[in-house]
Amino acid sequence: MDTDDIVKITHEENQQKSSGQIHFIRNLESSTDNTRTNKFLKTSEKNNWMNLMLRYIFAIIIALIAFWLYLILTHILGPGLPTYVIFYPAVIIVALIAGLGPGILATIISVMLAGIWILPPVGQFSISSTIDQVGAVLFTGFGILISGVSELYRRNRNKAAAYDKEKALRETIRDKEFLADILDQSSQPFAIAYPNGRLGLFNPAFEQLTGYTREELQNIDWPELTPIKWRRVDKQILEEVYNTGQPIRYEKEYIRKDGSRLPVELLMNIALDKEGNPAYYYSFFTDITNRKQSEDLLRESEEKYRNIIETANEGILMTDPSAIITFANSKMAEMLGYSIKELLGLDSLTLIDETEIERENQRIDDRKKGVKGEYELKFHKKNNEILWVHGSVSSIYNNVGKHIGNLTMYTDINDRKKSEEALNNSQKLLHDLINGFPYPIFVKDTEGRFLTTNNKFDELFGFKNEELKGKTDYDIVTKELAESYRISDQKVLEEEKPVRIEDERDLIDGPHTFIANKFPIYDIKGKTYGVGSISTDITERKLLEEQMKITMEELKRSNDELERFAYVSSHDLQEPLRMVTLYSQLLEKRYKESLDDDAEDFIEYIVEGAQRMRQLIEDLLEYSRVNSQAKEFEDVNTEEVLDSVLMNLSISIIEYNVTISHENLPTIFADKNQISQIFQNLIINAIKFHGQKPPKIDVSAKNNGKEWIFAVADNGIGIKSEHQKQIFEVFKRLHTRKEYPGTGIGLSIIQKIVHHHGGQIWVESEPGKGSTFYFTIPNKCN
Ligand code: ADP
Repeated sequence: MDTDDIVKITHEENQQKSSGQIHFIRNLESSTDNTRTNKFLKTSEKNNWMNLMLRYIFAIIIALIAFWLYLILTHILGPGLPTYVIFYPAVIIVALIAGLGPGILATIISVMLAGIWILPPVGQFSISSTIDQVGAVLFTGFGILISGVSELYRRNRNKAAAYDKEKALRETIRDKEFLADILDQSSQPFAIAYPNGRLGLFNPAFEQLTGYTREELQNIDWPELTPIKWRRVDKQILEEVYNTGQPIRYEKEYIRKDGSRLPVELLMNIALDKEGNPAYYYSFFTDITNRKQSEDLLRESEEKYRNIIETANEGILMTDPSAIITFANSKMAEMLGYSIKELLGLDSLTLIDETEIERENQRIDDRKKGVKGEYELKFHKKNNEILWVHGSVSSIYNNVGKHIGNLTMYTDINDRKKSEEALNNSQKLLHDLINGFPYPIFVKDTEGRFLTTNNKFDELFGFKNEELKGKTDYDIVTKELAESYRISDQKVLEEEKPVRIEDERDLIDGPHTFIANKFPIYDIKGKTYGVGSISTDITERKLLEEQMKITMEELKRSNDELERFAYVSSHDLQEPLRMVTLYSQLLEKRYKESLDDDAEDFIEYIVEGAQRMRQLIEDLLEYSRVNSQAKEFEDVNTEEVLDSVLMNLSISIIEYNVTISHENLPTIFADKNQISQIFQNLIINAIKFHGQKPPKIDVSAKNNGKEWIFAVADNGIGIKSEHQKQIFEVFKRLHTRKEYPGTGIGLSIIQKIVHHHGGQIWVESEPGKGSTFYFTIPNKCN
């Protein structure tokens, strides 16, 4: 339907002929056709006269041209050309093109021109020769015949053209009816709307779309079908369609009769009137409720998935097949220290540690083949720190199955990796430590299978690294030995306590003795899962101990011998000494008168020397008796012992005006006589080595849990620090006999007694202020 025709559809007609759109169009068509025919007839009437005139003029011109050509040819070729040779074709051309009348006219003109100017007598319209007369008659007859035939042909041709035109018109009408039928029956709603607000043509699908009946729609202004909020859009679209002349597809809502809103898509077009103003708008509608619903669903699910992705605790990256980042969630950006914007478009390989590149390329290839993958990967963060992640990747395909990229979820495993590293380091440290240990070490599981052994163990017992793993003692030693090891292992496992066993082994360089310290090994939950052992090779120590034992026995024997010798010799020396003294005294007595003064002095020296020697020998004898004549230890009340000592020394105490104090002295486990001798010697010395002031002596004792520490303090002359050790040596004295009498053996005897009791003796002193002698006696239980 062309625009001019459609313009003729009037609103009134629409309303009157509401019974069917097809009928309406048919009427429309026929009225249009009549009008066109009339128009055509009027035009062709005018044209016919012109045409006729032109056709006759054409006949005259062609006849003249033929005559002119004849004259030229005669001039060129000379006289004698047949008279009508050129006029025949000319008459044929005119008859064929211009029809009967012009053909006859051309024939007559040709005969006249030939009669006057070609056939003799020239200049008169007469033909003298009979042949020429016959020729003129034949030519005239031929001309009339040709003109008649060509007229018949022309008329038939026009008839055929008219028939074709009518046929074409019929087909056009049928097409339009067909189109109208299609529109009418189409499930796609269609409607025409006039600028004055009324609806024009619309199909049943449109009625269905709006929910209104045909009659109702004819009484509705079409803008009312659109909710207010969409009317502005409508207005804009109509303006745009008018301005551009192009159809526009857009979406909006309709209000259906029941008040519900219906999402629709329109393909809006415009038809203009002759003045170029909008004649009407026509549009196809699509109910897009389902599409909108699925769009909403899609949006919702997109929203949902975007939320999931955004709130995911994993970093998510999408890359194209060449590893360029096309998507990153905020967690991923946070993990890498980049912004999402910085990540997009970045080659993901630039974020990966160079040691991983090769493997990552392999993974990219795998993805293209659709292989899924899980792996651990080392990223470089923006600040160049290392980020260890666990990646889980899958390929993405478009809807035609083409691989368009990969989606990877990354979990931060940095902490785990760090602790694994720390664990590896500490395991390495432990491994190195154990292997560096100079003692054999092993760990067995609860079934007695070796889990690990150190280098020293393997080296000593002749095994290679790791060779023992999984084996038991039964595989490597005799059954009896394995049995004994198993028993001790089991003891450790059952009692969960360390066990020490002595282990004799025959090694390549001879027999060895080991002390194996076996201990339980626990897993993280505190459950025993094996036995560990560290052995010490005590072969040398044992040898040394044995040698020491022999040496000590030797020493004891030689000490005993020495003591026996000292005792015997001092005892036996006393007899000859007594003789020397006795006979010197006799000599002095009997020959005193006959000897001069010198001789008397000499004899006096001999007697004195002999007495001193006797004293020395007695002291020596006493010293040597400390061990040999010692008595069984018993409970000794030291307070009582001290009291009896003080009683013995009462004369000296009075003589030197000595003050003695003591308090709560304990009962100790000792040799009573020897303890008495200690107190006596110390108190005698305290009195003997008194200073300017009268002697003051204090005896006290305290226990340190292991032993009693006795202290005998005086206010005497004191001892220089450099002499404080020497004074305990035999016969060691710091003064002459004239200054202080004595032999220098008193403290040696005390030391020997204290040692005999398992104690120690020492002195603390300051010259001029006094000395304190300390000695210890172990508690009874020790
Ligand atoms: P002696 O008393 O016979 O000389 P000792 O073995 O008892 O022999 O003493 C050795 C030396 O230790 C003494 O000669 C003396 O010089 C010094 N000595 C012992 N006890 C005391 C004391 N309480 N004060 C000062 N010096 C002392």
